[in-house]
Amino acid sequence: MQLNELYLRCFRNFEEQTLTFDPGVNLIVGQNAQGKTNLLEAVAYLGSGRSFRAMKNSELIRFGSEFGEIEGKVHSQERSQDLRWLLFSGCRPRQIFRNGARKKSASDIAGVLPTVLFCPEDLMILKAGGAQRRRFADNALCQLRPNYDAALMEYNRILDQKSRILKDHFDHPAVLEILPEYNARLCQVGALLISYRARFFQALGIEAAKFHDSFTGGKEEFRLEYQTVSNISDPFAPVSQLTDGLNEHLNRHYRAELETGQCLTGPHKDDFEITLSGINLKSFGSQGQTRTAAISLKLAQRELMKREWGEEPVLLLDDVLSELDAGRQDFVLNKIVSGQVFITCCEPGRFTKLGKTMEIQNGQLI
Ligand code: ATP
Ligand code: MG
Repeated sequence: MQLNELYLRCFRNFEEQTLTFDPGVNLIVGQNAQGKTNLLEAVAYLGSGRSFRAMKNSELIRFGSEFGEIEGKVHSQERSQDLRWLLFSGCRPRQIFRNGARKKSASDIAGVLPTVLFCPEDLMILKAGGAQRRRFADNALCQLRPNYDAALMEYNRILDQKSRILKDHFDHPAVLEILPEYNARLCQVGALLISYRARFFQALGIEAAKFHDSFTGGKEEFRLEYQTVSNISDPFAPVSQLTDGLNEHLNRHYRAELETGQCLTGPHKDDFEITLSGINLKSFGSQGQTRTAAISLKLAQRELMKREWGEEPVLLLDDVLSELDAGRQDFVLNKIVSGQVFITCCEPGRFTKLGKTMEIQNGQLI
């Protein structure tokens, strides 16, 4: 997939601007607060109808304007396509067009221009608690495997109901009668999640290690390990075996769950760990190491999507260069050879051998 041309009107700090892009690397330079991230946001929104940072669509419309517009000429699914969004202030719903025809919802344009974004907040995937890592992995897996998406929704639904039972039983002990039924179902669906995740993390780890190797010149050995419920030693085991494992673990924690009123065990606590040459990244990683590993993970995610769909999502790298040494900056700028890449940076004097460099000032191309 590739975005050839973008037209923005009253989008964020862009008044009216047409930009044409290289099929390879597009380096967007500019000082702080000029519109670099806004541009990446427009590209991501064009393909998904979702912003990675706005709470409401109306935030995307230029201050003082009644509407905003994003239009892109895309090469995707072996043909030229046109995507267009119209956004309105107030309660008027947004409009979406694909090749000139009005569409009902963002799902009607799914797959035309998927993007994978790295932004500085993604460093939290590796530095913060397990919830961030689970969200990253779940998002990636849901895009790759619709059946996983369905299983995850089902799991969360049962987990919610079980949580309610565990909270209510102090006042209404009779609710415990239905608990075994919920636990049994939770183990069945939970086993399915573990099975999907085992395969996903294995593939992700292999791909990320390859990128990480070229990134660092093979200086550190990257390893990713999936961690699930402690008594499951082989997450690749048949689902029935995983179900038994989950059941056993649940039984062992039955009392504790009742006493605390919380769902203490199950794949909703899963996590993954990254080590560099055996040293835990979360606890000991430097800023540059963390950034390198996070970018490698995103590149790996994109690789898995390409494997699935035959085409590579557009890669959006926001503010990646800071904290990276010269060799690692060179990797980002000059070694990501496949697919289309957008890189923003505020360090002057950077350029790419693989595409074009453009400068943004106050919402304008200069
Ligand atoms: P940095 O290098 O600091 O990350 P940047 O070039 O990525 O900077 P952006 O986040 O793209 O900067 O743009 C920020 C500017 O856009 C801010 O000055 C902000 O006030 C302005 N801006 C954001 N939303 C709107 C809007 N709806 N209308 C007009 N201007 C806006
Ligand atoms: Mg920015």
